Amino acid sequence: MSEKFVAAIDSGTTSVRCMLFNREGRVVSVAQREHEQIFPKAGWVEHNAIEIWDNTRLVAADALAHVDLNESDIAAVGITNQRETALVWDRTTGEPVHNAIVWQDTRTDAICQELGALGGGADRYKAKVGLPLATYFSGPKVRWILDNVEGARAKAEAGDLVFGNMDTWTLWNMTGGVDGGLHVTDPTNASRTMLMDLDTLSWDAGIAAEMGIPLSMLPEIRSSSEVYGNGREKGSFAGVPIAGILGDQQAATFGQACLSPGEAKNTYGTGCFMLLNTGTEKVPSKNGLLTTVCYKIGDQPTVYALEGSIAIAGSLVQWLRDNLGLISSAPEIEELAAPDNGGCYFVPAFSGLFAPYWRSDARGAIVGLTRYVNKTHIARAVLEANAYQTKEVLDAMNADSGVELKALKVDGGMVANDTLMQFQADILDVPVIRPVVAETTALGAAYAAGLAVGFWDSEDDIRNNWAEDKRWNPSMESSERDRLYRQWKKAVTKTLDWVD
Ligand code: ADP
Repeated sequence: MSEKFVAAIDSGTTSVRCMLFNREGRVVSVAQREHEQIFPKAGWVEHNAIEIWDNTRLVAADALAHVDLNESDIAAVGITNQRETALVWDRTTGEPVHNAIVWQDTRTDAICQELGALGGGADRYKAKVGLPLATYFSGPKVRWILDNVEGARAKAEAGDLVFGNMDTWTLWNMTGGVDGGLHVTDPTNASRTMLMDLDTLSWDAGIAAEMGIPLSMLPEIRSSSEVYGNGREKGSFAGVPIAGILGDQQAATFGQACLSPGEAKNTYGTGCFMLLNTGTEKVPSKNGLLTTVCYKIGDQPTVYALEGSIAIAGSLVQWLRDNLGLISSAPEIEELAAPDNGGCYFVPAFSGLFAPYWRSDARGAIVGLTRYVNKTHIARAVLEANAYQTKEVLDAMNADSGVELKALKVDGGMVANDTLMQFQADILDVPVIRPVVAETTALGAAYAAGLAVGFWDSEDDIRNNWAEDKRWNPSMESSERDRLYRQWKKAVTKTLDWVD
């Protein structure tokens, strides 16, 4: 039998990728396309879901063509995706009724306030869904679409409209779209809607009713690793089992082999997300973290995670590039950044502050400015912001779990940045470790799919495939670490209460 591969579709915030992996979990092919970030007004972020589906088809075909393979060489396909980004489309025409509303979008602030005012404030649904009421999550975004797109509510109530995150949109299209496409999601994605009960892994009718979302719109929740169906006839993966779905951060956790309670990873992409595997125990957070599903493999028990979500990380580097024009590509920031911040701190509360604050009234600030500060210090402050935000989340995680993390596994686009990784180790005072395959998000989705079809036998294969590439050890004096972090904390207070 000739060697087979597993494919992953990684439908991310800035781009869609298709990657092919071999049995050792190494990348054999990759194709990628960026999609447009649409900013209709301050605080709003949208994507064109048709563009995303077109790009998905193109990258799938390209990834196969690069290495001269076709569908008969592919054992299974896994899907991973930007989570929370919400799309509503017509199941009879396949047309979205509105652009996808992206996870960073803050337009649902008033809806969240209204729901909180029914009693319980931001924690109204937290015991059931593990999340505070915040603009980040999908449920209120669906409500916004039904309230604001003409005729949408009536069509939804008639059963014509369906909701999905990008995993569901991708699977529905890959399995035939209007010709019998599957309307399915997995518990990791469903756990980010505010509509799923974390214990039963089913939609909560009471919360859906309060948010005004008909249950008929919601996808079926299946496990993260099982054969959902096969690729449609005319597609690049015709007849290939589609067998894994994981939200991007859970996929990265899986791809980093954080498969035992107490293991954690931090991904530095558009945003920054740390997840700690808490095993089959659902740990409620007292320190501003989210309780979420980590993965559910077939009919095995559900594995949960604590998560610290940071809205703005790599996107602050993009902002420096696109809005200020201080650099022409993201990697250039490393050259521009001074060896110290010159006293200046950049708190990127562009979408409010996520973990551990959950303050939608915050907005970004650069503080500590003097005549001395120049663009090299601002570039340095941009990099440092990621490290301070990660420390805030790690401290919350240590407090919630009662266990001190001894090292941090990292991945995502920004881990190419040595300056940031060294500073991260210095600020956390623990080693920071990058694996050989830093594309852990796509790899995690491939693992979920490959396990379902027997391409990999067990989670031990995942552990065995994981290999260390580079380690940054802390080397900063504790007095300096404390001084920097103290100043950062002060800078954060300057961003609060900004929105009236
Ligand atoms: P996502 O999966 O969220 O789309 P990626 O993991 O691909 O994101 O990471 C891309 C992000 O990383 C971009 O926001 C970009 O600005 C940032 N980035 C890429 N390379 C570097 C670098 N060398 N230094 C700092 N930031 C970088």
